[in-house]
Amino acid sequence: MSSSPHGSHGSGSRASIDILEELQLIAAQNLEKLDISKYYEVIRELGKGTYGKVDLVIHKIRGTKMALKFLRKKTTKLKSFLREYSISLYLSPCPFIINMFGIAFETDDYYVFAQEYALAGDLFDIIPPQVGLPETVAKRCVHQVAIALDYLHCKKLVHRDIKPENILIFDKECRKVKLSDFGMTRRAGSPVKRVSGTIPYTAPELCDASQHEGFCVDYSTDVWAFGVLLFCMLTGNFPWEKALPSDAFYQEFVRWQRRRTGTVPSQWRRFTDEGLRMFRRLLSIEQERRCSVKEVFSYFNHPWMLDNESGSSSVAGGGSVGSGPQVELSSSSSEEDVLVDRLKQQSLIEPMGGHYSSTGSPSSTSSYERVSRDNGGAGRILVATPIEICV
Ligand code: AMP
Repeated sequence: MSSSPHGSHGSGSRASIDILEELQLIAAQNLEKLDISKYYEVIRELGKGTYGKVDLVIHKIRGTKMALKFLRKKTTKLKSFLREYSISLYLSPCPFIINMFGIAFETDDYYVFAQEYALAGDLFDIIPPQVGLPETVAKRCVHQVAIALDYLHCKKLVHRDIKPENILIFDKECRKVKLSDFGMTRRAGSPVKRVSGTIPYTAPELCDASQHEGFCVDYSTDVWAFGVLLFCMLTGNFPWEKALPSDAFYQEFVRWQRRRTGTVPSQWRRFTDEGLRMFRRLLSIEQERRCSVKEVFSYFNHPWMLDNESGSSSVAGGGSVGSGPQVELSSSSSEEDVLVDRLKQQSLIEPMGGHYSSTGSPSSTSSYERVSRDNGGAGRILVATPIEICV
């Protein structure tokens, strides 16, 4: 898995690298200073972060709605902006990757590029906390994301920031979803160095700061994050806070993965044998043993959840049927109660919409904040430790 997901790409990959360089050069040569208000009317803010913001705008002459991504010049190098823009443009022919308008410009304070507007927001918004999406909806979404990711990997690129916030949706049933945000995307094999922290989607080899000084960008990072994403979509919980031995949930999972115990960890008991087999392949602890993203296609004909119609299932995997995994039924044990309590605390979004502090883990020091949307949501906080940023 680590070298190439599809064997050698020979001169094809060289060509794609040249195209990317060419695209960056053209964008740099044509980057104009623009007075936004002359051409665009801002409708509302769609998202924001440390990098800047994304606004929904309408083109004053053509009447086209689009999303403008603003990257603050104070914190974004021109080179980084050109890279994100060019990679997005290069990948946009894929129907499951956000489309581009070929528009890039600068203002006094920002570098800006235009994308198609995803009218239902992002995947994070529609995952019911502690419940998850119905299996049919999740599968529909996963299928499209897997095609997008495979497309990216075939182009020898690694996304490096797979999470629900970066999957844009066009309807709440996920009939049309697209992968976005290529700010962290790099060529496979290129060296990156750690800056700080982890999020629940970060692969174990990147979490362990003591192990390496730097890393080579690898497809397996996306595969791991994709596996965590699947778990989040199907359950409305994170499987762990960080993939480190200090995290009890992760440790329990590792013991099962390495077959040190036959007991399926409590939060994984809602999955069928086939579902678990898929997770075992996507979430192999050793990155060389992780499967390629397209292996997930071979699991689509099987049910993944034991309770696969309601989209909600009890933590201890209630309605076990014949094909289910070996379940330890001592659900009254205090050890399990503690785990269940912690699992509840680890939900994607605090249920009442208020602020949520990550008391579940002694090592958690800060949280990754999602701002409220103007479509009615109260302020919400996604609990996680600081984001892994490799440059
Ligand atoms: P980004 O930094 O590109 O991931 O964007 C931050 C957030 O803005 C996303 O998580 C989305 O909620 C929102 N957003 C970004 N791009 C778009 C778009 N093209 N259409 C709708 N919402 C978007």
